[in-house]
Formats: sequence, C-alpha cells, structure tokens
Amino acid sequence: MRFNFSKVVVSLSGSFFDKPELICEYAKIFSKIRSKLEMFCVVTGGGRIAREYIAKAEILGLGERERHMLGIAVTRVNALLFGFALDFEEIPQSYKEAVKQLRKNGFAICGGMKPGQSTDKVAADIACMIDADAVINLTKVAGVYDKDPKKYQDARLLKELSYEQLEKILSSQKSSPGKFELFDLLAVKELAKREIPIFFACGKEPKNLIEILRGNNPGTKVCKKPVNWEEVIEKMEKEAKKRNAPVYEFSFRYPFQILLAAIISTRTKDEITLSVCKKLFSKVKTPAQLAKMSENELAELLKPAGFYREKAKKLKELARIIAEKYGSRIPETKEELLSLPGVGKKVANVVLANIGKDAIAVDTHVHRIANRLGVLHSKTPEETEKKLKRIVPRNLWKKLNKTFVGFGQTVCTPKRPRCRECPLSKICDFAKV
Ligand code: SF4
Repeated sequence: MRFNFSKVVVSLSGSFFDKPELICEYAKIFSKIRSKLEMFCVVTGGGRIAREYIAKAEILGLGERERHMLGIAVTRVNALLFGFALDFEEIPQSYKEAVKQLRKNGFAICGGMKPGQSTDKVAADIACMIDADAVINLTKVAGVYDKDPKKYQDARLLKELSYEQLEKILSSQKSSPGKFELFDLLAVKELAKREIPIFFACGKEPKNLIEILRGNNPGTKVCKKPVNWEEVIEKMEKEAKKRNAPVYEFSFRYPFQILLAAIISTRTKDEITLSVCKKLFSKVKTPAQLAKMSENELAELLKPAGFYREKAKKLKELARIIAEKYGSRIPETKEELLSLPGVGKKVANVVLANIGKDAIAVDTHVHRIANRLGVLHSKTPEETEKKLKRIVPRNLWKKLNKTFVGFGQTVCTPKRPRCRECPLSKICDFAKV
C-alpha cells in the first residue's frame, strides 16, 4: 500500500459507535495503516450517546459548559474503546499529550479536549500542530452537498471546493453542544490558514479512508484552490513543447546522468548545461570512469558551466563514493543523496522524482508558477514542495518539475509572463490582478 500522505488526522463521526461491526472494521484498518504513516491521529466524536447526555443535562437545567463536558467524556470513552481494540490504552487528555504521543509512537487516538470545542476542531488543531498533510472527516453522508440531502432529493455532491466555498456553506448552519451539522466552521478556518486539505467521505464505508490515503477522492475535497491537475499539467506540457522549451532537449534517462545534469545545471543556463552534459556523457558512462578522470580534464569539460572548477572537484568525489560505497548504483533515499558532495535538496528531489520516489523537485519555475496560479501561497521552495505534495496526485509528481520548467521557460517567464497567450489565464490569480 502506497499512500499520498504521511501525516494524517481523521475525524470520525460518533454515529458509528452505534455499530459494533463498523468499529471492528475500523480497528482493523487503523492497525494496518498506522505503521505506514509517519503520524496518524484519530479523533472520535460523541454521537447519539453524547447527545442523550446533553439532553438529560438540559432537563436538569445544567449550563453549556457542563453539557460540553459530558459530551467530551463520551468522546473519550469512544476513543478508549478503539484504544482497547488496538492495544493502546493511553487516551490523551490534552493537546500536549496528543502531540507527544504522535511524535513518540506515530499514533494517537483522542476524544474532545476543551469545553466549547468540537472534535472537528480538535482534529484541526492537532493537524496544525503536527503540520499534517490532510484531515479526513468520515461522516454519515457522502461528502458536501449543494443543499441539504435529507430535505432535497436533487441535492448534488460537490467533488471539490475551496475553503471559502465550504465556509460559506457552513456559515448557514447552526451548531450547539454535541451538534455540528457537517464540520466545525472554526476548524475549517484553522486548516485554511495552514492550507491543509480536508476530505469528506462516507464513514459507513471504511474503505473510503484507504481510497483517500491512496490519493483518490470518494467524497469531497477541500483545498485553497481546486484545479484539475491532470488537465493543468497537460495544457502546460502541450504549450511548452509547442514553443520548443529547452528543457525538453534534456532526454537523459539514467539516474547517474540525471544526477550529474542536475548538479551541473545549478547557476548555469539550460543551453550550456545541455551542451556540457552531451560532451561529458560521450566520454563517461559510469561513476567509476568519472572517478578515474583527472580533475583538470573534468574541469575542461565542464568549463562553460558556472563554478566549473568547484563542480569538477565535487563530481569526481561524488563518482568515487557512488562507485565504492554503492557499487555504482545511485542511492535512492534523500538522506543518502544529500550526503553526497554537490547534492542539495533540489538536486536530490530531481533524482528521487525521476526514479519515482516520494519527491517533487521545486526550483524557481515551480515555486513561481504555483504561487502565481494561486493553488498555494508559499514563501520558500521547501514550503512549496510540502504544499504541492498535499494537493497534486502522486502519479503526476514525476513529470511536474519538467512541465513547470518548460512552461516557465516559454510562457510563465519570470519577467513579463505571456498571460494573454496562456492556456491557464482563466484559472490564474496573477492574470486576474
Ligand atoms: S496566466 Fe500568466 S501568470 Fe498565470 S500561469 Fe499563465 S503566464 Fe503565468
């Protein structure tokens, strides 16, 4: 099982606790997936029993705080039920404890935390604290509808929404202790600030959770700006190829060549990188051959590229390490790649993305275009990479860098982008300014 996300918080409707067979199924799924995620947190709701206690409290004339406290107690009992089923008896009583457990065990299961706060808000707060990749709300309905599906037969399931659209829908609903119609509005606001996607799906079908983790959307997906990524990338690629983007002249397929080209390309124009790589690869086929080459000869070959002397020294040493330590195979983890001379985060991600590993290579083109389109807001390439991973389907990660670079070289150029000729102008924030 390969998942799109590594840190996930699930908000599970309390209504499912009326169905023991469903709880059993969820317990099995949770125990399977918890080891495959870096952090996995489940927040349980209170459901019917919480509402019954709240109603009794009302009859007794108790105040809102007391009613909330009864609701929290039930959510924690529900969490404990799961905890017992999963051999995990520590139910966190505070955010601090929940985050501590997640950092230590990669797993936590909790109920409510504070009076006046829904379990959706607890899920959102924890997601923000651990910088989660997604919050998944498993509820009684299939997702978010354009109108109340209980009242209107023609209610339409909305597949994708922006945070603003969801906030508008939720603002028209009322909430009270133990009763948040679809999702807590405050939780949406919190998640919107951090650009953490929210998925809504029918929790009566536990397989929906797996579907979402695999990158599918069986219900509704909410993010900063929903776009059809297949379509966006296809349009960008078509336009860049039509305009003969230099990046498409790079047809190096072997990981060793991709690694060398990525290092040579830093602070060097694409045309120069291309001609240098062609020359170099006609002489050198393996790391061992490169390691044997004299530093002066290598520097001569690299000469038109920026910092060629420095690069010659680093490439020679890098080739030696790959030949001796890795038997001439390019390492396949970020840590190993980053330990090689001349390899920074961008270069490591270019290699990893090209060999189909968990990476999106973000350079200035990717960073600039993603921000201009308005699909995310980020200040650094690292932040852009993190946010793109949350919203772009995994099957597109490999080609994302090349497509964005080609598009950035020809259409969405750093200065004076060609917005009038751009196939994305209708969805682009920058074009609207
Ligand atoms: S509309 Fe302009 S800013 Fe937006 S992607 Fe196209 S070229 Fe870039």
